[in-house]
Amino acid sequence: DEPRELFRLENVVAGYADCTVLRGVDLVVRPGEAVALLGANGAGKSTACAVAAGDLPATAGRVLLDGADITAWPAYRRARAGVLLAPEGRGVFPGLTVEENLRTWLPDPAQVYERLPRLAERRAVPAGALSGGEQQLLTLAPALVRPPRVLIADEPSLGLAPLVVQQVFELFAELRERGVALLLVEEKATEALRIADRVAFMRLGRVTWTGPRAEVDGDRLTAAYLGAT
Ligand code: ATP
Repeated sequence: DEPRELFRLENVVAGYADCTVLRGVDLVVRPGEAVALLGANGAGKSTACAVAAGDLPATAGRVLLDGADITAWPAYRRARAGVLLAPEGRGVFPGLTVEENLRTWLPDPAQVYERLPRLAERRAVPAGALSGGEQQLLTLAPALVRPPRVLIADEPSLGLAPLVVQQVFELFAELRERGVALLLVEEKATEALRIADRVAFMRLGRVTWTGPRAEVDGDRLTAAYLGAT
């Protein structure tokens, strides 16, 4: 049996002002599954994330959570229902220390420190003074303690040091084990492919191919990026 789907973009059309970017995007993510959404610069991956998270309206098509039509829901309502966009999904207070940030939503940060020792080392540092990667870990910390249902990560490794990228993806793998539906958006495929169960290629505002990661080899990657798929 195919596991039930949790999150779906169904024939989604969206864009900016008079520029249509998404031209009918179909995408499904199941619980405990990581889907890598890959495609060249400008394919519309970030726009698809924005529509999924409720930051940008769909002008046609639907967004479904567990079968319910959430197309009209604003971002905050989706977040409350467990649809989280990272990295910018949770605000970090730059003037508060790491510890103070964690305490704004968690009485005892110990379990975060145990899992993300880098944050423990930086507990007394204002969040605004953290490196990009450390800030990313801080914004993802809530997901570790209270896992969302759907986590949409837009270019999670962009600009991060390799060690931090590794920690971020370890965290994603752990969330997937705990049943979270992960949508990982990357321009460079390497990290996302490592933990993806399925891959979706995007090109010119459409998903042009979806399949198991095992079916993605160098030839298919090249074809997808050059537009042959
Ligand atoms: P990238 O890796 O460059 O982010 P992407 O696949 O995520 O690529 P999008 O960021 O979704 O692609 O961009 C798709 C198209 O939409 C591009 O042509 C881009 O110029 C345009 N676009 C993106 N954001 C906006 C915006 N805020 N206003 C107007 N046009 C935009």
